[in-house]
Amino acid sequence: MSFDVEKIRKDFPALSQTLESGRKLVYFDNAATAQKPRSVIDAVCAFYSRDNANIHRSAHELAGRATRGYELSRAKIEKFFGAGGEYCAVFTRGATESLNLAACSWGLQNLKSGDEILVTAMEHHANIVPWQMAAERTGAKLVVAGMLGDGSLDMEDFKNKLSPKTKIVSVAHASNVLGTVNDIAAIGEMARQNGSVFSVDAAQSAPHMLDDISSAPCDFISLSGHKCFGPTGIGVLIARRSLLDSMPPYQGGGDMIENVSWRRTTFRPAPERFEAGTPNIAGAIGFGAAVDYMSGIDKTAARAHERALLERLVAGLSEIRGLRIFGSAKEKVAVASFAIDGVHPNDIASLLDADGIAVRTGHHCAEPLLTSLDEFSLTRASLAFYNTEEEVDFFIKSLDRAVKILK
Ligand code: PMP
Repeated sequence: MSFDVEKIRKDFPALSQTLESGRKLVYFDNAATAQKPRSVIDAVCAFYSRDNANIHRSAHELAGRATRGYELSRAKIEKFFGAGGEYCAVFTRGATESLNLAACSWGLQNLKSGDEILVTAMEHHANIVPWQMAAERTGAKLVVAGMLGDGSLDMEDFKNKLSPKTKIVSVAHASNVLGTVNDIAAIGEMARQNGSVFSVDAAQSAPHMLDDISSAPCDFISLSGHKCFGPTGIGVLIARRSLLDSMPPYQGGGDMIENVSWRRTTFRPAPERFEAGTPNIAGAIGFGAAVDYMSGIDKTAARAHERALLERLVAGLSEIRGLRIFGSAKEKVAVASFAIDGVHPNDIASLLDADGIAVRTGHHCAEPLLTSLDEFSLTRASLAFYNTEEEVDFFIKSLDRAVKILK
């Protein structure tokens, strides 16, 4: 099926800009944050222009509009990510806060000395540090399942490390460094059979619209709006309502209570019990507009387009002498991280930037992964469905020239 990328690009105002260097923007930093379609920008603007009011509290018309907009967005997000029926979405600041919510609330209530938290070697800090903090406070232990040479999860090691002590398994659906897509349906099933809670960090998979987020037996799903073409500062934790209702609030304040007296406070059911204070109302509405936008994209065609771009990118990178790509798992999102012998990633990024190309360098908030690869910094090109073959070709040409200059 053909995919009209030029038509899609017109929906994203930032993509057609000319930079201060006089170059046209080539945006290959989508894993850090994605660009926003006009409909998202307009939804946020419309909220502040017309409907701005606090939610759930006042009887006036604007408060009604704001509350309806916020709750409608929640319903759209739940539907888009397959969180119907017993699941619901708690609004958070993003995947980081979602994982912290799970670790602080569920973790501190349920973990104890001798318990284990099983993660993988390819996790982002957001799926390491909150669990480390919970482990320190409860006496539980963080256990790490290893990787194979191609950057895929070592399933044998995972199985060996899954034990009656494993109270929770928390894994990235897609790695932000390697692009590896983990088989969360299989991992989730193993966790379920083991009696472990299963948490998925879907921050990097959600923007690529992989359908299996909802088909896996997940207890917690964490994701960020800004990586899914929505605003920054908004995300969700999706979980079963009954699980959320069994968890204590981890922040107290307005909007999350039933009754407050000097003696005692009672809390509202989920999701409100985890949404203390005035939330990011405009962000939630913008995120709702983003899932509306994603719903209008042909998922199969978008994935085929991204896959073709990734293959072209990897083929081009393989031609560059001294370049090593990290992550060649069979199932990957369109992310390519690489190192070039004798060349510092920041120098590469500066020369690419002079050509208008935006990439990211560094440890990508995955220091343990980089340490295991014996690298301190990688250059990462991360693509979205609005990127083009011409951009990939231009990137390879520019990189090739940069390497020749720097070597
Ligand atoms: N998990 C992964 C795999 C990520 O790539 C990121 C963002 N880089 C996060 C979690 C955290 O997302 P956020 O910064 O939006 O909270």
